[in-house]
Amino acid sequence: MNVVLFGPPGAGKGTQAERLAAKFAFLHLSSGDVLRAERKSGTELGARVAGYMDSGALVPDEIIVEVILARVLKADSKAGVLLDGFPRTLPQARQLDEALVGAGSRLDLVLSIVVPDELIVERITGRRMCPSTGKIYHVKYLPPKQAGICDETGEELIQRKDDTEEVVKQRLAAYHEQTEPLEVYYRQQGLLVEVDGTRDIGAVAQDMGAIVERHLGRENS
Ligand code: AMP
Repeated sequence: MNVVLFGPPGAGKGTQAERLAAKFAFLHLSSGDVLRAERKSGTELGARVAGYMDSGALVPDEIIVEVILARVLKADSKAGVLLDGFPRTLPQARQLDEALVGAGSRLDLVLSIVVPDELIVERITGRRMCPSTGKIYHVKYLPPKQAGICDETGEELIQRKDDTEEVVKQRLAAYHEQTEPLEVYYRQQGLLVEVDGTRDIGAVAQDMGAIVERHLGRENS
């Protein structure tokens, strides 16, 4: 079963993806994490995408499509792939469909986490991340046991460069202009299921888990 997590920056896609992937053994593929890892390793690709990311703009389709589809097609997971942050434009979505169909597979479900813009800035500016694993925390909503320290690695948490108020506004603008139209695309295909993302993390996770289970039940019946 292949699933796309859809929603604005700060909706909780990464946090929910970690939980869903652990529960259902999906391969979690976060396009943002892939790009950040490239930058950290100092690759040519990392250098090419840095400017876009730091300004809150989307990376050009041809770059991200190549990088992510290669990973999707290589994915060695019986349970399926959980895409987080990809696709973000209509051309990306169409190319994902083509690639999956070409591989004898398909997209089964798009989980849309709905959060209004007013809540996004507080969520994003309070977000912290483990520098080596990418595990996500929030100073208020998902604090680590010891302030500023990753529960799992003991490393000092960092704030993403693009998690400042100024860049968040750009990221939200990019979302509304380029990504939101995908909602219609997936709704027309009957794949989109909406989840109210304004509630606490556990409640959202429970809803999402139940939706995935329902779909799995349908697949197996
Ligand atoms: P994220 O961690 O998902 O918020 O992604 C961080 C940044 O990486 C975005 O603001 C974009 O610059 C870039 N990025 C990640 N995924 C995509 C995508 N599917 N298309 C274009 N740019 C992307």
